[in-house]
Amino acid sequence: MKSLVYVHKRGNAPCLLTALLLVAAGAFLTLFSLGFNTARHSEHTQRRTQTDDLTSYYASHKAYSGGDEVRKNLVAECTEETCRPPACVCARTSHPGSFPLREVPMMVMLSFDDHVNNLNFHHVQSLLDRRWKNPNKCPATFTFFSCDVATNYSYVRKLHTLGHEIGSHSVTHRFPIQWWTNASIQELTTEFSGQRDKLVQEAGVPHEAVKGIRVPFLMASKDRVAKMIQRSGFKYDSSLAAGSELVRGDPPWWPFTLDYPPRHLRIQGRYPGVWEVPLNLYDCFNGKGGYFMLDQCPMRNNTHEILGYLWRHFAYHYRSRAPMGLFMHVNWFNLNSASHEALTTFLDQLSIMPEVWLLSVSQVIQWIEQPTPISELKRFKPWGC
Ligand SMILES: [Zn+2]
Repeated sequence: MKSLVYVHKRGNAPCLLTALLLVAAGAFLTLFSLGFNTARHSEHTQRRTQTDDLTSYYASHKAYSGGDEVRKNLVAECTEETCRPPACVCARTSHPGSFPLREVPMMVMLSFDDHVNNLNFHHVQSLLDRRWKNPNKCPATFTFFSCDVATNYSYVRKLHTLGHEIGSHSVTHRFPIQWWTNASIQELTTEFSGQRDKLVQEAGVPHEAVKGIRVPFLMASKDRVAKMIQRSGFKYDSSLAAGSELVRGDPPWWPFTLDYPPRHLRIQGRYPGVWEVPLNLYDCFNGKGGYFMLDQCPMRNNTHEILGYLWRHFAYHYRSRAPMGLFMHVNWFNLNSASHEALTTFLDQLSIMPEVWLLSVSQVIQWIEQPTPISELKRFKPWGC
């Protein structure tokens, strides 16, 4: 990774791309050389002591992987004749634009789950202090999925004022984690709409600005979540552990609407206009499996090692330009002392690449609703400031 210390300004694309291709080649060789293992996932490192909960949690997510079945169901029912953007977008692994891949921006979504408070906000503040800019000179924007537990809303208010997206991550974030699987539509409404109400009242975030949710532990009936989103007026969910066939070479998923859910996801109904922003697997074990949240990978306090994870994940998305999620918890910075430096270095490097944009989840959805080539992005209003 030493060769990846970018010192160029935006616009030096050939040099940067050459360096990137070197990284990608190394990453792909690693990914293709080893067997695939099933995806596993958990969310809260600090709660790993609840072993019984997490054991069943891993087991429940095994069903989400499946190579050929995934491919078949991605294309079987949803067609461009029946499903047209911006209202309807098929689940897909290729970009939705009618222009070459080189004209597709590399979109990066950085999101943080759970609470911000006096114990962790200094880490967020030091990220904000970097003032990363996108190619149109507008500030980079992140997404914060906020729960009520332990949250200091004055910090949420500050994040919203600075232009970052705030999502709902429930009021209680309760245990046991199976509660979320069994929760009724009304219970889910109480949790997610209830948290939106708190964000409005306590942090001054406008009701309509809270567009997305993430279910704690990524555990819930997808049908009930989709119904709750429709009834409560949210726009998207970002809780679906998509799985990904790293060794087979399947590219990561793009966000899609649930008009025609792929069958293997076991969603029974159709939910027109409800967006799903899936979590693509992090390769934590050199092709032998991974997790869906970055901070669940077992990383040592080693900046170089963490940068390796980040660049592998980037390379995996870059070849199809699928939006890359950097999904994590603010508390990661407290648990791994090298994580902040690694992430900061990574974002420093990304921010000087001319095709890379650091965007909120909603901004990424806006691009998919209205695919726009790189050459026209400086006039793309949803990304303006
Ligand atoms: Zn959480």
